[in-house]
Parts: sequence; structure tokens; C-alpha cells
Amino acid sequence: MSGTYLGLPSFPDAAHTSTHDTQLRANLTHATHTIRTKRATAINELPDWPQLRTAGAAIKDHTLHHLDHYLLQLETAVTNAGGTVHWATDADEANRITTHIIHTTGETEVVKVKSMATQETGLNEALHTAGIHAYETDLAELIVQLAHDKPSHILVPAIHKNRTEIRDIFHNEMAHWGRPAPDHLTDNPTDLAEAARLHLREKFLRTKIGISGANFMIAETGTLVVVESEGNGRMCLTLPDTLISIVGIEKIIPTFQDLEVFLQTLPRSSTAERMNPYTTMWTGTTTHDGPKNFHLILLDNGRTDTLADTTGRQALRCIRCSACLNVCPVYERAGGHAYGSPYPGPIGAILTPQLRGTTTPLDASLPYASTLCGACYDVCPVAINIPEILVHLRERVVQGGPVTVRGTRTTIKPAKGHAAERAAMRAGRWTLDHPTAWSATQRMAGATRRLHPRRLPLPGPAKAWSDARDLPEVPAQGFRAWWQQREKDTQRGKGEQK
Ligand code: SF4
Repeated sequence: MSGTYLGLPSFPDAAHTSTHDTQLRANLTHATHTIRTKRATAINELPDWPQLRTAGAAIKDHTLHHLDHYLLQLETAVTNAGGTVHWATDADEANRITTHIIHTTGETEVVKVKSMATQETGLNEALHTAGIHAYETDLAELIVQLAHDKPSHILVPAIHKNRTEIRDIFHNEMAHWGRPAPDHLTDNPTDLAEAARLHLREKFLRTKIGISGANFMIAETGTLVVVESEGNGRMCLTLPDTLISIVGIEKIIPTFQDLEVFLQTLPRSSTAERMNPYTTMWTGTTTHDGPKNFHLILLDNGRTDTLADTTGRQALRCIRCSACLNVCPVYERAGGHAYGSPYPGPIGAILTPQLRGTTTPLDASLPYASTLCGACYDVCPVAINIPEILVHLRERVVQGGPVTVRGTRTTIKPAKGHAAERAAMRAGRWTLDHPTAWSATQRMAGATRRLHPRRLPLPGPAKAWSDARDLPEVPAQGFRAWWQQREKDTQRGKGEQK
């Protein structure tokens, strides 16, 4: 992934700061609770939701198992339709290709929409270095850009800002980027939307290059699909002369008919709408309509390495609906910036350490950014078992072991700072492997249970964990002893009946 997020503090440190920001917590709690309630209503309208969920997971799994085949099919279809396909192994390559395409046109400005992949590659920063100005056109992305901030939510990147803060950002910053905000701008949502509309219109009409992502790429036809609510995406996708779409390779689906499933599950899971207001599809180029040049940059950047992991690969099913963020108690309190990646919340906690690896303190901390409550799994429209992957990645952090890096199988060392956890696990494994020792431990625990403290007085960094958790009460008898006693009592009862 991009270097722009690297060097940020680990999740516990960043969350320690953000959880003390009461305004942030209030903004997040209000927004996530509103959207999760609406989503539940929208989902309950569909009697076949479980079947749609299973179908979505099956389509994605099938595609991932045959990714090589479908990507080549897509390349042929896009090329036959007049587009050009580029392959980018990593973030730098994707940025280099994009910059080169823009330079050959002689332009120095681009409008952008709907592209988490470009946040992943740090494209805006790369373009800035190359003397190219990138303007975000999605309303929430625009707010984040004007505020010199980073997105904190997949769907609502400015979810951490309230209306008054947005009014102030527009008022103070719009004039530096183009058309200023109107005098006496209020924090009424209609007035804010109108100010953004006028500001962006100038950019849409002037800029000759558009950059987008895509929600889906259809292998059989070479069609790309963007679903959105505002219509800014459609302007960005249709008005410029040149369109460059930068898309992760996992966004592919085999056929047009497969969209049927995702166009039901994605809007309901993300914005709680039965159907999103704008669905734009484009296939290569067409004379007299839309962009004259179309470039598709297919981004790997750790995705094929993730595919090599039989447990973790489920994360590549993700359709970026953000439902898991809106139900996550950790995300709600810590906010999106604490995850140090364009992908916050539960999906970020499993995707980022797979795309970037677990070698930095930040990435090694992400699999722990969860209570493992399972709410994310319940709401996921493609049934990604996020808790299972979290536990799998925790094991990788603590134990190290085999992973695939840039296509090569290698063995990574355990991350630093988990010695106590490793020792506890080793002791647990040894005890469970030795039935006599296990029985003795159980007997001893039962006999001394009245002496056990209510909490473990652990020292050092483990204190924060032990101070917040009560120890479970130890029963007088272990399960085996109870079972043997029960069997004896049963036999005795039978004997007495005779
Ligand atoms: S993991 Fe599932 S719930 Fe979360 S964003 Fe992806 S598809 Fe949506």
C-alpha cells in the first residue's frame, strides 16, 4: 500500500487519543446509529436476504478461484471496446502509469471520484509531486480534501465532521481551490450541498481528465460500474476527454447477470436505499459520447498475496458497503483515522495487514482492533467471517509463520512485544497435550478457588487488559470429574432399581 499512511502510531496509541475526542465520538455515534437502524429496515424488506448473501459470497469466491481467467477475459473485452488496459503490481507502478498518461495529454488538472484504490496508492500526493492538481468531487471526499484531512469511513469519508465544521471548512478553504463559498453560508445541508455543487461545476466543465475507481468490473463485456448517490460521479465519468479508472483486481465479476445480486445487496447494506440513485456503466469508448480515451489500470498491490492465504482470502470478497463499520463498537469509539489506512473498521483490520503485511507496529496491531463480538460478520452482505480472519492474523502476529510476499512463499518472524502471549499459549498447549497434567491443574484450581483473586494483578503493559476484566469463577468440580460422578450416580440408580 501507499507510504502516505506509514509511520502513523499503532492502533492502541491512536485510539487512546481519538477516544478522548468527545465531539468525534458524538458525531460518529449519531451517524453510525442512524444508518445501522435504516439498514436493518431495508434488509428486512427482502425475504430472500440470506440467499442473496450466499449468492454474493459464491459469485465472489468462484471469481477469485479463477481470477487469472476472468482478468484476461476482461482485458480482451476492454481492449476490443476501444480501451487500454495497464497492469500495476504495486502502488508506485499504478501512480507512475497514471502520471505518464496525464503528462502525455499535456493537462495539469484532473477530477476524481469514487476511488479508494487511489487513496491506497497515495495518488493525490504523487500527482502533486508531478505538478498535477487532483480535485475530489464526491461531496464527502471534497470536504476531507478542503480540510487537509484523511477519510475516516469507507462510504462517508467525512463522517467525523458535523455540519458546523463543514460550513467552516467551506467558508475558509473553498476560495483557495476555486469558486469561493457564498457569503453568509449557513450549516443547513441544502445550502452546503449548493455551495459544493457550484464549486464543483466549475471543475467539471473545465477539466479534461477524470480519474475513477469502480464498484464492479464485468469480465464478459469489459463494462465498469460505479454506484453512487450524488450524480457527481456521473459528471466525472462522462464529461472529460480522458477517463482513467484505477481498480483493484478483486472487483471483477464474471457476467452482467451477476450484477443482479450485488445491485440488491450493496445499496441496502451501505446507504439503506433499495436502489442507489445513480448507477453508471461504461464499456471502452464510443464515438460522439463520453470520454474519447479510456485507460483501465488493474491494481494488485498485495491482492494476489492475500489470495494465497486460504483463510484470509475471504477479505477479497468485500464490496466496500461499510455495514461492518457502522455496527462495530470499536470503530464507533476509536474513529476511522486510528486504523492508519484508507480501509478503517473491521474490514480494514483484516484487509490492511494482508495487503501491507504485519511488519510495522501499526499493521501488527490492527488484528487486535476488535472485540470479536461478531456483529461485523452478521451484517456482511458477502458473509466474510471477519472474526475468523482476525484470530488467524493474530496468530500470524504472535507466532510468525509462512506467508506469501510478492508471489514468493516466505516465513515471517513473530512481531515484537508478544513474548508473554507466546509463553502463555505454549504453556496452555503443553498442558492440554498432557491429560494427567490437565486433570491435576483442574483439581488444584477447584480446591483453591476460594483463594483466587477477582482480577489478575498483571504488571506492565498487561495491566490495562487485566484491570478491565473479571476472572471467571472456577467451579468446585471440573467437567470430567462431574461427568464421572454423574456416570457413577446413574449406574448406582440403575442398580437400586433392579
Ligand atoms: S467486509 Fe462486508 S460488511 Fe464490511 S465493507 Fe466489506 S462487504 Fe461490507
